[in-house]
Amino acid sequence: MTDIPDLAARRKKEQRRIRMAMNSLRAEERAKLKGGDDAVAWVKEELCIGCDQCTIVCDDDAIELYDTPLASPIMKVEVNKKARILREPCTGCKLCVLACPTDAIIMIDR
Ligand code: SF4
Ligand code: SF4
Repeated sequence: MTDIPDLAARRKKEQRRIRMAMNSLRAEERAKLKGGDDAVAWVKEELCIGCDQCTIVCDDDAIELYDTPLASPIMKVEVNKKARILREPCTGCKLCVLACPTDAIIMIDR
């Protein structure tokens, strides 16, 4: 059975794997993005599916997930998450933009 330390170690390992894959596969795309001290990430809420990929790659604890009701009242889902950026700790590194599967994160001027 998986215990908490095992899970934490697997999460770290997965974080490294995703980061390496992103760095190599999308380096060119990354170079075109605005980033650095003058930029900050922004989540387009309507595109966010709460998949948690961005929080895995963010080294700076600059992203948090929050609960929000589903847009459709027909479906009953107990947990519906969205991501939001914490402006202060965000370093503008752009990793979350590259990790997001729905292109929900963009870089904007700080
Ligand atoms: S740009 Fe970097 S520091 Fe800012 S939220 Fe995204 S991964 Fe975190
Ligand atoms: S990676 Fe994209 S879709 Fe997934 S939680 Fe983050 S912003 Fe939302």
